[in-house]
Amino acid sequence: MKRVLILGGTGEAVAFARAASAEFGPSVDLVTSLAGRTKAPTRPQGAVRVGGFDGVSGLADYLSTEEIDIVIDATHPFAAKMTANAVAACDLTHKPRLRLDRPAWTAVPGDDWHAVSTVAEAAVHLPEIGSRAFLTLGSSDLAAFKTVPGMPLWARMIEAPEPGDVPPQCTVIRARGPFAENDEVTLLRAHRIDVLVTKNSGGDAAAAKLSACRSLGIPVVMVARPPDPPGDRVPDVAAALNWLRPRLLLTISS
Ligand code: NAP
Repeated sequence: MKRVLILGGTGEAVAFARAASAEFGPSVDLVTSLAGRTKAPTRPQGAVRVGGFDGVSGLADYLSTEEIDIVIDATHPFAAKMTANAVAACDLTHKPRLRLDRPAWTAVPGDDWHAVSTVAEAAVHLPEIGSRAFLTLGSSDLAAFKTVPGMPLWARMIEAPEPGDVPPQCTVIRARGPFAENDEVTLLRAHRIDVLVTKNSGGDAAAAKLSACRSLGIPVVMVARPPDPPGDRVPDVAAALNWLRPRLLLTISS
């Protein structure tokens, strides 16, 4: 049996655990790791551990102590620290590692996207692009918008942010996707939003806001992804299973 650590916190991690368990059954022992940010996360198939590893050395220790054979990094595209730690810890311990990373969104005709490299850069450019902004970002990203004086902001997120991070003119909307395009149009109209700020997370569950903006002619400030990690990388669960299959067979026959 192979022990597989899934670095999770995404729908892809949950889907991968479900699919790997269904296909490989007792040939895999799955452990999903969650950072512990979400109070009621979707529970994946297999075992779950919660909380940080304490950096690269902590993760390397965990991989050795727990006799992990393979690491699937299915964290969010913007969880760059965890991904970098996984690269370094797997290199140190010589564990095979796969990055499961959903494709980024790309602009299509009718989109009016303004590319920025960071959330802080989005906040700087926001007043040049709109006057009533909808932010679909993480709670830790909100503080950057304290530098946007007076502009009405609506921020949608799963967990409540720290009160000190919320700009005074910002209304927090607590909600968890997936969202339908009709509902996104209704929300954008209700608050007379004229600009959206989002990270290029990719995936279907959060894409409806982009088509809603396209249909309403609303510009989007799109925060680009961090650089890709080195090594094997796949865009979906099916490709991740294809990557894992021969590695499990190798062990079973050896
Ligand atoms: P991050 O900045 O890359 O990581 C910060 C620290 O959080 C890491 O150094 C690690 O602590 C801990 N950590 C992160 N992911 C972990 C995991 N799956 N298991 C155990 N520890 C983890 O991460 P983040 O952007 O704060 O994201 C945290 C979690 O939320 C991730 O699991 C990610 O998949 C999920 N998520 C993130 C976003 C986003 O926009 N960033 C969106 C949706 C979901 P130690 O150094 O102590 O090990």
